[in-house]
Amino acid sequence: PAVVEAIRSGMTETPDFPSEGILFRDLSGLFADADGLRTVAAALVEGFGPLDAVAGVEARGFVLGAAAAVATGHGMLAVRKAGKLPGEVLSESYALEYGSASLEVHPSTLPAGARVVIVDDVLATGGTLAATIRLMERAGWDVVGVAVVLELEALGGRAALAAATAAPVKALL
Ligand code: 5GP
Repeated sequence: PAVVEAIRSGMTETPDFPSEGILFRDLSGLFADADGLRTVAAALVEGFGPLDAVAGVEARGFVLGAAAAVATGHGMLAVRKAGKLPGEVLSESYALEYGSASLEVHPSTLPAGARVVIVDDVLATGGTLAATIRLMERAGWDVVGVAVVLELEALGGRAALAAATAAPVKALL
């Protein structure tokens, strides 16, 4: 199908980046492909029922989330890395290979009960998206789905997300 074809032709795989033993997938080619970006972004958020916003995780989730939001007539919620947002923010930490990182939002960005689909490029261990789910819930928003372009099945991210939410998790590849 067109979606899978666009992802395959817009993706590169680079061994030992950013560190030894990691096979890094990069979607810059997909982002630069006008038809591919629109098709893949729309496919990400399709099928979850009525939505109020698409939430994208910094930074590659911003590209996909904004494209999906525009393609489907929704607004976009930017889930930021720590320290980027002014004022009182909600913050959730998650483990990295070494140390930890945090994601932040303003709880006033969307009304309570807003229905959101969370999007990102890659699901690996699921730590990033599980933290995003916790953040949405603390803000009072309803996570109706999680969608990624690529799921790295061997890393167990789907099980980590199942522990964090009952919402469906969709991977295009
Ligand atoms: P996780 O938290 O699920 O272990 O890792 C997912 C996060 O790391 C995503 O935000 C994703 O952008 C990034 N990530 C992990 N592996 C890759 C990869 O191979 N390629 C890209 N582009 N991002 C990755």
